[in-house]
Amino acid sequence: SLLRRAEYLISVHNRPQLPPDIGAEVAIAGRSNAGKSSLINRLCGQKSLARTSRTPGRTRQLVFFRLDETRHLVDLPGYGFARVGGDLKKHWKGLIQGYLEKREALAGLLIVMDVRHPLKPGDVDLANWAADRGLPLHLVLTKADKLGRGKQKEALMKVRRMVDESVGVQLFSAVTGQGVEELEAVMAGWLLP
Ligand code: GDP
Repeated sequence: SLLRRAEYLISVHNRPQLPPDIGAEVAIAGRSNAGKSSLINRLCGQKSLARTSRTPGRTRQLVFFRLDETRHLVDLPGYGFARVGGDLKKHWKGLIQGYLEKREALAGLLIVMDVRHPLKPGDVDLANWAADRGLPLHLVLTKADKLGRGKQKEALMKVRRMVDESVGVQLFSAVTGQGVEELEAVMAGWLLP
């Protein structure tokens, strides 16, 4: 598949480094520790494509993975403990905000959340903001393996009820591979040439 061919392209720290704004990309966001790197690795079938360790100074960069000539995955910095609303005024200001607001190639946004702690303030801020921009949005409740089937379903339905029906919501596990096909299908739809 397209995702399995993903390879690291570039870490962008400032605008001029951005690859040409053509084709299609999917951006992936989430609070630090939500499981975003593990999700990217599982989805692309590569153990260490997205590093799971965080080092200082990586907090403002956009990491691009090349899928083919014109298609990318873009790993956004984890937004940690501050609200994204605040982040959009601070850490996320400039490069990241500009990217999210102006990038023509941006076809959809994934927000990765721990199934046990969904829709934290930062997630909600980002989701609302994506909705305002009219950007297709898909919420991924990861670490589903941490809950039994009943609790998983409960969490899914709770989040489902809290967001607009145009927003996708699904369970995922980087450990068991649960939800991989569902997520691949959503991304394939966004990345269609
Ligand atoms: P990131 O900061 O969002 O990139 O999060 P990581 O991918 O580094 O994951 C944070 C922690 O959660 C690590 O200890 C992972 O091993 C763990 N983790 C991530 N995804 C899963 C999952 O699907 N299931 C379980 N059980 N643990 C996970």
